[in-house]
Amino acid sequence: MSRSYRIALLSGDGIGPEILEPCVEVMAAVLCDGPKLDHRWLPAGAGHYRDTGEALPESTMVEARAADAILLAAMGLPEVRYPDGREIAPQLDLREELQLYAGFRPVRSIPGVGGPLSDPRGDRLDFVLIRESTEGLFAGRGRTRIAADGSSAEDTMVITRSASERLFRAAFTEARRRKDRGGQGVVTCVDKANVLGGFAYFRSIFDEVAADHPDIEARWSYVDATALNLVRNPWDHDVLVTENMFGDILSDLGAALIGGMGMAPSADIGDDAAVFQPCHGTAPDIAGTGKANPTAMFLSGAMLLRWLGDRHDDRALAEAADRLEAAVDRAFTSGLRSTERGGPDGVTEITAAVLAAIEH
Ligand code: ATP
Repeated sequence: MSRSYRIALLSGDGIGPEILEPCVEVMAAVLCDGPKLDHRWLPAGAGHYRDTGEALPESTMVEARAADAILLAAMGLPEVRYPDGREIAPQLDLREELQLYAGFRPVRSIPGVGGPLSDPRGDRLDFVLIRESTEGLFAGRGRTRIAADGSSAEDTMVITRSASERLFRAAFTEARRRKDRGGQGVVTCVDKANVLGGFAYFRSIFDEVAADHPDIEARWSYVDATALNLVRNPWDHDVLVTENMFGDILSDLGAALIGGMGMAPSADIGDDAAVFQPCHGTAPDIAGTGKANPTAMFLSGAMLLRWLGDRHDDRALAEAADRLEAAVDRAFTSGLRSTERGGPDGVTEITAAVLAAIEH
């Protein structure tokens, strides 16, 4: 008998509900008669904060903790802010609450989509950026110290041994998994160790963890040089691992390389929980227009299925993830062009094409 898994769904704000609903439909189609997903739609986000004063209700946290996995679309609205001016970002609270320390941002080209690079190797990218997701410069959120006379502001970056060790272990494990499938077997630590002591500390922990993984090559790169190389020769990368803020910035660069924010999925993974969501935000500029590209959402759904399959040793889930990714590839190879890339296809067209491309 096929198994059932409880999935917490947070559609959030802006284009969030427009892309999560078709994602649920596509996931059901690839699972077909296999494992069932028991969905719990949960309120959270900037709209919820505006209406109720709460961005991430405790009842949502209880359901999220009890779920086998969490699928989140996007949260935040530019005009809805906390009294101190910060945007509402319960997805960041969720990462910290559930200790989702490793943010996986795969940068894999989808055939036929095309990117901004003229070199044909730019259309065959396949590397992964792993972003620390619970501390770093984001640890200063909500704790900025502004001088009483208004003359300065200070945010603090936090790097801990425990979060760094588990982050680097996840990066080396990922490199080994990729190497088993023909990958390069290289992990690059991206930092600014030449300027800030916190990054020198980060790098020293990377070196310690690297010593336990002699089968994987360890490299180092300063973040500025990495930005340059991600545009100049991104095909040379395998696994990049970095601090929270650097990862936030570089993952948008990675998304641009594969055709835009609407193509880039992500997974925030901890030891006991995981949240899957597109790299992009709520795209308020196109919300309600039908122009949203749901591909990153679909690919985040595929990552959820694969992670659940690994965790529960359920091959049917891994096969469904493969089917979903293959359907996305086929749909774009057959000529889909998202509005992001100047084409005519929005959420309805892309969803229909992916559904039609699913093979059983
Ligand atoms: P955040 O700070 O939450 O990451 P953001 O304000 O930086 O969000 P996004 O919401 O990611 O930015 O949007 C950046 C740009 O990319 C916008 O022009 C938006 O319309 C576009 N965009 C983002 N996601 C998509 C998508 N799924 N489909 C089409 N365009 C998108």
